[in-house]
Amino acid sequence: METSKPASKPPGLKIGEVEIFWLDGGRIRLDGGPMFGPVPKALWSQKVEVDDHNCIGIDNSAMLIKTPGANLVIDSGIGNKMTPKQQENFKLESPWRLPESLAALGLSRNEIDIVIPTHADFDHAGGLVFRNANGRLELTFPRARHIFQEKEWAVVKKPDRRSATSYWPENFIGLKEGENLTLVDGEAEITPEVRVFLTGGHTIGHQAVEISSGGASAVHLGDLLPSHNHLHPLWVIAYDDYPMEVIAFKESFLPGCAERESWLLFYHDTEILAGRAAPGRRPGEVIFSQTLERPTPYLTE
Ligand SMILES: [Zn+2]
Repeated sequence: METSKPASKPPGLKIGEVEIFWLDGGRIRLDGGPMFGPVPKALWSQKVEVDDHNCIGIDNSAMLIKTPGANLVIDSGIGNKMTPKQQENFKLESPWRLPESLAALGLSRNEIDIVIPTHADFDHAGGLVFRNANGRLELTFPRARHIFQEKEWAVVKKPDRRSATSYWPENFIGLKEGENLTLVDGEAEITPEVRVFLTGGHTIGHQAVEISSGGASAVHLGDLLPSHNHLHPLWVIAYDDYPMEVIAFKESFLPGCAERESWLLFYHDTEILAGRAAPGRRPGEVIFSQTLERPTPYLTE
């Protein structure tokens, strides 16, 4: 698969000394209703394109974070292991081409040092293990240390009935605690520029990633902020296990991002890759002062 046609150069953003690139993690279509939880269709359908089957496009943009000392990947896309039935159910629109995306940046899978899955749902962890040209499953990033929250990994090992529908065992084959899997509990510094912290909310062990360099910052909030349309604290998705936690997190965390003028990075957005947070007119309100749209060749902070 790594010999298939080359991908075009992924869009990117530079924060201080750190470069961020959006990789091709596959695009699917899902029912738009659950993506906006309690929000009526009359409202959300003004924001996104919805088809005759009530479906909207969902990107799965794994991100490459290039720091001066390490290559990191946040989330891994949907992978290439879906059965024909799953591809039909999830209306696969464009396949996972993560290795090709990396190649377009002059990198191979072997050069990734650290992988940070925000959580273990198939659309984020599906690309941790891929099916190679011989049909065998192998770790996509064989040299990388994979960083999960302890609480998330506990559910991977023993999924409850709801998690089992989205935590597919084949996505974790080859990950071994103490070897290529590091479990953290809460906040942890991963490199001098990158830290992870526990958010909960979407899943019990969901984590976010903050990148800081040269006085600028960017935040990857995973499924707590899947697209630019989810900035309002009450616009949460129906797949959240603990929606009240998501609302409380957004209410307390996002105003600080606006004060710091942080970039917010989006994993599932088909149009906007990142938005720069800024204070709105009302107390606590957060808006975007700038957005990075797809396709963007490259933006330097
Ligand atoms: Zn997701």
